[in-house]
Amino acid sequence: MGYETVTGIVAREVDTGDADRYLTLLSVEQGRLECYARGIRRQGSKLASQAGLLTYGEFSMYVNKDRRLLTSAKSSESFYGIRKDVEKCAYAMHFLDIARDVIVEAQAFPQALQTLLNTLYALCYKDLQPGFVARAFEMRILAIAGFAPLTDICSVCGAPLGGGKGIGFAVAGGGVVCGSAECRGAASRVGRVVAVSPGALKAISYVSGCGAGQIFQFEISDAVAKELSSIVPEYLRHQFGKAYDKSDEAERYRAFEREMLDLRRGKNGDAKAI
Ligand SMILES: [Zn+2]
Repeated sequence: MGYETVTGIVAREVDTGDADRYLTLLSVEQGRLECYARGIRRQGSKLASQAGLLTYGEFSMYVNKDRRLLTSAKSSESFYGIRKDVEKCAYAMHFLDIARDVIVEAQAFPQALQTLLNTLYALCYKDLQPGFVARAFEMRILAIAGFAPLTDICSVCGAPLGGGKGIGFAVAGGGVVCGSAECRGAASRVGRVVAVSPGALKAISYVSGCGAGQIFQFEISDAVAKELSSIVPEYLRHQFGKAYDKSDEAERYRAFEREMLDLRRGKNGDAKAI
């Protein structure tokens, strides 16, 4: 029994009872942990404004055996710019989904938490495409969790690839595959093998190995962005053995937005009100 304070982010909330809520925190000190926030949904609750979903700050708890009761919270960042944007919100939920799996209970994983926070910061404050932010986050989180795809040697035979012809990417395997029929065949038996450009491989390799503060400091063409969107989420799904559908939600939202824009533009490309 006793009190403890952790620094972290609210990564999930589940309502219970009339006014209470279970919170999942991803903390610097103890990794993932659950706590009970009594009365947080009551009007005027001090906890409500300081311990909402996505809030980063300090959380004090009363601990009894493996149960934690949230006693106070002090927010230092609420990512308001994400909350007020439906599309960004969908992406943020996708990042939290993944981070909750990578950061396990009672085990600090500061690198993963820092990646999550940097990503939310970029999504909130930087003028970047949310899809670009998502791919960078996914590639980086894969690397720090030990699942970076191979980009320079064939994932089947181990032969070095000099950016030669016929290189494929095995989305259900370990990364790139050389052009030999044996390797292609072996990789195809477990999953899709797609064509991959040197630009996409360069981006994957950069984000996997760059400094923590530099994961968004690269530029890619629209074609490479599209390529990464068809490779990275699926590769991540295979490596983590789980579908993260919040990202699909975000993509669907984007597609819907594009359709609306096309409709507004009409046939001749001029914008018009609908
Ligand atoms: Zn090979």
